[in-house]
Amino acid sequence: MKRVAVFCGSSIGFAPVYADEAKKLGHFLAEQNISLVYGGGKIGIMGTIADAVMEMRGEVIGVIPDLLKHEEVAHTKITKMVVTRKMSKRKVKISKLVDGYIALAGGFGTLDELFEALTLGQLGIEAKPIGILNTNGYFDYTLKQLDVMVKEGFLKQINRDMLFVSDSFEKLIQMMRRYEAPKVSKVVNTVASK
Ligand code: AMP
Repeated sequence: MKRVAVFCGSSIGFAPVYADEAKKLGHFLAEQNISLVYGGGKIGIMGTIADAVMEMRGEVIGVIPDLLKHEEVAHTKITKMVVTRKMSKRKVKISKLVDGYIALAGGFGTLDELFEALTLGQLGIEAKPIGILNTNGYFDYTLKQLDVMVKEGFLKQINRDMLFVSDSFEKLIQMMRRYEAPKVSKVVNTVASK
């Protein structure tokens, strides 16, 4: 992996552990020569991880939509900022730049980006590893929901298993490096079962 997208909160969270882990991950990415691609903000743990990569002289590429570009939000001290016209274009641009995705704790924006990446993987449009850094068990309920979706027949186990989960960023990146995409996409399956 040369470039990874990190989706994470534009908030900082109540417990300091979320920002602490984001910072450690940022340092690790720089050490491993993996560039960070992210939403381009300087706020919340988005800002924390970008600062951490820059601190270790790593590469940070922000991709921000025009409407969020104003001073209070956009990071001004990163390697490169790409400005897109719309939120939806931002996601497309990020996906073109990266070899994998990691989600850290966040809110609607983070979940939206994570599930879009999973959907692209499920449809076989992309074959990139996707991981969750489950700091403090933050995603435990989200993962339980995925199991409900499998149990109730709305999500295939093979697609559920695309998602890597660990509370250790070293382990997570190791697993992501070994990723092999499922051979059959949901689209192919749907067509084949008709
Ligand atoms: P949230 O998880 O709702 O805080 O949203 C964070 C995610 O959505 C990030 O990964 C960003 O890509 C995007 N995002 C949301 N708010 C902002 C913002 N103010 N500046 C830049 N990106 C944002």
